[in-house]
Amino acid sequence: MKHQFVPKLAIVIVLFSAAISALSSDRAEAQGGVRFRLPFSGTRRWTAYVDHRSPDYSEDGYMVVYLGEERGNCPGPWPANWDPVTQGPYCYDGHDGTDYSMPENTPVLAAAPGTVTFAGWHDFWKGNCVILDHGAGYNSRYCHLNGFTVNVGQVVSAGLQIAWSGQTGAGARGPHLHFEAHQIINAVDYVTDPYGWRGRLV
Ligand SMILES: [Zn+2]
Repeated sequence: MKHQFVPKLAIVIVLFSAAISALSSDRAEAQGGVRFRLPFSGTRRWTAYVDHRSPDYSEDGYMVVYLGEERGNCPGPWPANWDPVTQGPYCYDGHDGTDYSMPENTPVLAAAPGTVTFAGWHDFWKGNCVILDHGAGYNSRYCHLNGFTVNVGQVVSAGLQIAWSGQTGAGARGPHLHFEAHQIINAVDYVTDPYGWRGRLV
């Protein structure tokens, strides 16, 4: 029995480690010289993917998650009773960020060193947002916030608390953080995925 138990245990450990690495706060990947960490401490559940195919709220009939996998079986827009715990992360066509479930007033952390360029009400339905400029053409955005702990012009280090999470704005269905990373290419601001862009380029 022992020689059967050990491989199973090893598989469990490998799967568990993979799950943790996908969510833990110490994961970070370099992009263009800017290294991003996750914008919170501990482990949070992913509740909605970035649409890697068309990450600008435009609907093109395709939803591509970070693995490059096309999800043709996404539910229709804004399902009222979607449960990410039992049904997995929600995907919707054109989502331009990643949603992480967290209680209101959870500290939101800077994903990379940068300068605060915006802290206020975002006019496109996401409630209170903070935007950080990381240099090298990168910026990150944090929305549905309850409040801010930084001011415009402030220089922040990676991991510094910049805000309190919430569910402000018309797009929030329950408390969560909407996190976006952007890369400016030839003066055009594209949504990107700092944790591994393996889907199709826009
Ligand atoms: Zn979102």
